[in-house]
Amino acid sequence: MISEFIENARGLGFIGTGFSRPQRLPDFDKFFSWIASGKNADMTWLERNIELRKDPAGLLPGCRTIISLAFPYPSPKIFTADNFSVSRYCRPDMEDYHTRLKELCKGLTGIIKHYFPGSRSRICVDSAPILERSFAHMAGIGFIGKNNMLILPGYGSYLYLAEILTTAEITFKPVDPIESECGECNLCLDACPASALEGPFSLDASRCLSYLTIELKEPITVDNRIEMGNCFFGCDRCQEVCPHNSEKSAGETILPSTNEFLSMDEDEFIMRFGTSAFARPGLDKIQSNIRTVRDQVRRQPLFPGQMRPEVL
Ligand code: SF4
Ligand code: SF4
Repeated sequence: MISEFIENARGLGFIGTGFSRPQRLPDFDKFFSWIASGKNADMTWLERNIELRKDPAGLLPGCRTIISLAFPYPSPKIFTADNFSVSRYCRPDMEDYHTRLKELCKGLTGIIKHYFPGSRSRICVDSAPILERSFAHMAGIGFIGKNNMLILPGYGSYLYLAEILTTAEITFKPVDPIESECGECNLCLDACPASALEGPFSLDASRCLSYLTIELKEPITVDNRIEMGNCFFGCDRCQEVCPHNSEKSAGETILPSTNEFLSMDEDEFIMRFGTSAFARPGLDKIQSNIRTVRDQVRRQPLFPGQMRPEVL
C-alpha cells in the first residue's frame, strides 16, 4: 500500500512523502517557548489549541497515522509589469494553494480508504494546529534549516506542506529524521534585512516581512519599515540565499503594474484575485504595501548612470 501511495503522490506532483505516528514531538517545547516569549507577534491563533499542537491525535479522533506531503512551488518567481515582485509561494494567477493541495490530497485519501475500509481521514493544509515542518522532519522528508524552513536535500525549501491524518494504522518502516545540513553556513541569517532571524532556528515574527506584509492588519509604519527590496507581498530572502535552493530563473511578468493595483477597486480585485493568496491580506493592505515599497525605492540612492524607475 505504501509504495502505491507514494507512487500516486509522485504522479500528482508531490516531491516528498513520509509517515509518522501522532505524538508529542521534541520540537513542541521549542514552539512553546517561542510562543511564551511573544515572538509570534499578534498571530494569536498560534497560541490557541496548544494541546493539539502538543499531540495532534486530537485533530482526528482515533488518528493512527500522519502522512506528510511536500509539493513544489510553481516556478518561476513572478513580477508586476513594472518589476515589483511577490513571494515565491504566491501565484495570484492560480487558485490559492490551500485549495489546490486539498484537491490533490483528496485523491490520495481514496487509496487509504481502499486498503482500510471504514477508516477516516482529515486533510490539513495550514488549516489545523499541527507542527507541520516538525512532522515532515520526523517522517524523513527533509531537515529544518536555520531559516526555519523545511529543506529537502537535493531540492531545497520552495515547497508547500500538507498532512493527511488518518485512523488507518498504516504500517511503515520508521526512518531516522534527516540531520541538518546547514553546518557552518549562516547565509540566511546574514541576508535577513530585518534581523528577524535572531539566530539559528530563531525567528522574531514581529520583524519578519512575511508577517508585516501579509498578516499585520495595519499598514507598515515608519518604525518597522524594513528594507523590502522590490517585494510587496512576503519575503524570500532567507530562502533565496540558501545554497539548497538552486532555482535562479529570471522570472515571469504576469501581474499588473503597481499603478494598476493602486487604482484597482474592491470589485475588480475580488474578480481577479479573490481566490488567490492575495485574498488573505486583501486589497487595502496590498495597496499600502505597494506605497511603502515604492516609497523605499524612491529614496534609494542611485548608482552613477542608474535611472529611477518611471513608475515612481
Ligand atoms: S522572510 Fe525575510 S524578513 Fe522574514 S526571516 Fe526571512 S529574510 Fe527575514
Ligand atoms: S542558508 Fe545556510 S544556514 Fe540558512 S538554511 Fe540554508 S544552508 Fe542552512
